[in-house]
Parts: sequence; C-alpha cells; structure tokens
Amino acid sequence: MVSEHASPLAAIGGVDAGGQNVHVAALSSALGRQGHEVTVYTRRDDPGLPTRVALAPGVEVVHLDAGPAERVPKDALLPFMPALADGLAADWERVRPDVVHGHFWMSGVAALDAARRVGPPPVPVVQTFHALGVVKRRHQGAADSSPAEREELEPEVGRTADGVLATCTDEARELAALGVPGDSITVVPCGVDTARFLPTGPAEPKGRRFRILSVGRLVQRKGVDLVVTALARLAELGHDDVELVVVGGSGGTSGVRDDPEARRLDDLARRLGVADRVHIRGQVAQAELPRVLRSADAVVCAPWYEPFGIVPLEAAACGVPVVVSAVGGLTDSVVHGETGLHVPPRDPDAIASALAALLDDEPLRRRLGVAGRARMESRYSWDRVAADTADAYRRTIRRAMQGVGSSPTELITTEGVLR
Ligand code: UDP
Repeated sequence: MVSEHASPLAAIGGVDAGGQNVHVAALSSALGRQGHEVTVYTRRDDPGLPTRVALAPGVEVVHLDAGPAERVPKDALLPFMPALADGLAADWERVRPDVVHGHFWMSGVAALDAARRVGPPPVPVVQTFHALGVVKRRHQGAADSSPAEREELEPEVGRTADGVLATCTDEARELAALGVPGDSITVVPCGVDTARFLPTGPAEPKGRRFRILSVGRLVQRKGVDLVVTALARLAELGHDDVELVVVGGSGGTSGVRDDPEARRLDDLARRLGVADRVHIRGQVAQAELPRVLRSADAVVCAPWYEPFGIVPLEAAACGVPVVVSAVGGLTDSVVHGETGLHVPPRDPDAIASALAALLDDEPLRRRLGVAGRARMESRYSWDRVAADTADAYRRTIRRAMQGVGSSPTELITTEGVLR
C-alpha cells in the first residue's frame, strides 16, 4: 500500500485525516488476517517516527523521507513524490511486492514510477483514488486548492494503472468519463469494522430528548452548516428538544476552538438561535465513536459530494438510522426507506423534514437501524471488502502478466511529470 499523506497511524478527524487513513488501516489489517503480508508506505511527517512500525499481524508501516519531516497540507505534497518514488523503488529492489496498491492520485504517481523502475517486468499497480479532482473542482470551483498538475496527472494514473478500484458506481462512471478503460475498473466499496461498531454496548447520555449526530472532517464540503440550519428548521416543525453533536475538527474540545470551520459553525448556530443545542466536540478516537454513535437518534451526512463516506456505514453498523444527501457513494451504501433516508444535496429544509419524519416515528427508526446493521454485516465487513480487494489484485496480476493494461507509451515518471 502506498498512502502518501494518510498514515494508518494518524489521529483521525483533522482536515487531511479521515476516511483514507481508516480505509488503509482497516483494509491492510483485514488482508493481514487473511494471511497476506502487507507493507504500508507513507510520508514521514515527524522526525521522531521510527522507519518501520508494526501495525497489526502481518502489517507493517514504513515511513519514507519525502519532503520536510513535518505536517504539510496534502495539496502541497506533489513536489515530494519523486523522493517518495525513490524510497519505494529502493525498498522494492530489496523485496519485490506481488502487487502495489496506490491510495489517492499522488500515491499513484509515485507508485507507478517506482513500479516501472523495479523489474522488468514492472510490478502491477492497482489504484484507488478516494476522491477525484474533476468532481472536487465541479463542486468547489476556485476554492479547490489542488495543484494544477492534478488535472492531467490523475486521469493519467487511472489510464496507466493495471487495475483501478472505484469505491462506488458513481466513481466508476466518472473514471470511465476520464478515459480509464472499463475493463480495468472494479467497484469495491469501503468497509466498516462490524465488531467495533455494534448496536449493543454503552451509549453516552444525551442532553436533550433527541440527539442528532454529525461525524467527519470539519471541511465546508461536508455540509455540517446545513445540519445546523436544519436544526433551526426542525424547531419550526415542532421539534425543539433536539441537540446536535458535531464530531471532528482539529484536536479535541480545546483545539477545536481554533478551528476556522468550527468557529463558522458556532457563529451560524448563534445567528440561528440554536447555539445552546449545538455541541462542537472536536476529534473523537475511533475506539470512542461507537459509544457516541449509539447515543444518537439519527446521524446526518450532508456533503455536497462524497466519493464514498464511511461514517454512514459506522452509524448503520451501530443500528442508528442515517439521513444522507443522495450523492456519490452514499446512494450505494444507504438504501432509501430501507436503511436510511436520502435527501437532495444542499437542502436544509429536506434534512429537517427527513429528521422530523424519523423523530416522529420510533418504529421507523428501529426498522431502519435493524436493516442498516444487517446490510453492513452482509456486504460491508472489512473481511468481505478485503477478500474482494484480493480478488481484484489477482485479476490485475493476471492482466499485467498477459500484457493487458498499461502501454509503454504511457509510462509515468515523476521526473517527467514534475519538470
Ligand atoms: N473520524 C473519527 N474521528 C473524528 C472524525 C472522523 O474517527 O473525530 C473518522 C470517521 O469515523 C470515519 C472517517 O474518519 O471513519 C471519515 O471517513 P469518511 O469516509 O466518512 O470521510 P472522509 O474523511 O474520507 O472524507
């Protein structure tokens, strides 16, 4: 695994640490349990980090020197990919992997470069994008701080990789539109730890009759402001004994005071007269989350767009109904009327109406929660996702051996692309 900015060892919830970190950690651990040997390469972002750290049985994290040994925003990391590729190639000369899995487009750039330097034959590369620049730009416009090179390099990674894993059908469609060959794309969703996220177990006490919960990195596109607005609208619908707990942001309860997005949400809550019912909690560790999730009557995920979205899986695994905007991966993972409710994106009135429908109807909440748990057990356990991923690896290795996939004219070299 190559995961340039998202270490499986990082604290989760800050601006650049979320689903990808959870995904890489859980997928690697599940592959390790299934008898595979996994090495996760990530950038050293702290001088004190040891080079090799054991993560789980069969899984090791390797910190490679690529750029300053400090936190660098992911959108400023591209110039360090040649150094990352050097570190990868050096390690793969020592022990050649059967397959390499790049996470996020920049890891793909480094992985493809290094994989072609080892061999011949080159090491087969599977790529998961986690997010696509073309989608981000569509929604964020000028606010998208990705480097300009992403526009060209990301599709090139998709076209050059031997196999591409899309986390949802919507992403598969986007990839095809970028020219990624259909026969190299496989849809494999993200998973959820169904043993940790359980309906049974302790739940935190609520401060009001009902509790709505939002969990995720505090970035604008996650639409937490829409949920704050919906809370005010809910009061107009007769539900004023409802609190909103917001999990995520930089640092814990004290650190979150300096988080610009947390301050923006706080200002909005004040303006709407609901500040006493909005609790911005800061980061909560994965191990603590089930207790918080179980305290909620509903979890809302209202992003403008969502490449996958692990939080609704975690909520469903805890038997909590979800209200999600009908975008990206959320339309695959949440079945409207069965495990949760879909609402149109960027529509606080629709969120409020969906929440009112849930809060008014305890049997409905229970039914959606039970069905959500069943869906997670049958289709989204990490063991199932890891087995599907390993199948995709095997297919990719076969394709690469038969010479299907990348063509020599499309070789990615970090030197070339970064000149
Ligand atoms: N998360 C967490 N603590 C926090 C905030 C988020 O553990 O304070 C986790 C959350 O439980 C989920 C992940 O971060 O596992 C977010 O993944 P998701 O796919 O929902 O969003 P992304 O970060 O990929 O945009």
